[in-house]
Amino acid sequence: MALLQINGLIQSFGGLLAVDDLDLKIEDGQVYGLIGPNGSGKSTLFNCISRFYQPEAGEILFKGTNLLNLKAHHVVRMGIARTFQNLELFENMTVMENLLVGRHISFRSNIFGCAFKFPRLKREERTAREKTEESLKFLGLEQYKDLMVPALPPGLRRRVELARALVTAPRLMLLDEPASGLNHHEIESLMATLKEINQRLEITILLVEHNMNIVMDLCEKVAVMNF
Ligand code: ADP
Ligand code: MG
Repeated sequence: MALLQINGLIQSFGGLLAVDDLDLKIEDGQVYGLIGPNGSGKSTLFNCISRFYQPEAGEILFKGTNLLNLKAHHVVRMGIARTFQNLELFENMTVMENLLVGRHISFRSNIFGCAFKFPRLKREERTAREKTEESLKFLGLEQYKDLMVPALPPGLRRRVELARALVTAPRLMLLDEPASGLNHHEIESLMATLKEINQRLEITILLVEHNMNIVMDLCEKVAVMNF
């Protein structure tokens, strides 16, 4: 069974058909590239998978479960994490706090658990700290963890977004143009990091990217979306 299988997906906005009958099959362990001109629906597809949008038709099967029956936070718990084309970090928080917020999405404790500090919450908080430290270390961000986001250059912000996606311990990462705004040196290091995420952490990657050097170097398979 494919890790992610999309069948006949349709998403429109008013009269505009953004995703028209898309089929896609991604095997476990792959780095899968998705390319296409601006406006062809790549980010829209990500928003459908992460359940920000409600497509009109089709199915998105992740490990055999149709994500269209789930809510956005359940998709995270199922093991799908993402980054955004336009960085979506919390500007009024530190690097560490941004990561902890990412991790909290995967908590199972409800409001009562939080109010009474049930053991599960304590356990979840401890694991959150551990996961956060682990992912800071993996991305070489330890020395920046107490800095506020606006103090960071673009390359480091992109890293923080990757780290925040990693703290949820995903099986699949959706990366929307992770190299945009990065200089040559930062792109080299991003590519090395993505390879490590895929090979060492065994995380499957769906990568939207305009930089063809990155796509050709990293991706086993590439799909093209047309207008
Ligand atoms: P890509 O990421 O491939 O550049 P997008 O998925 O961002 O393309 O956009 C595909 C089309 O859908 C564009 O025409 C865009 O304007 C439109 N679109 C995307 N999101 C929305 C939305 N929330 N409301 C209306 N139109 C949208
Ligand atoms: Mg886009």
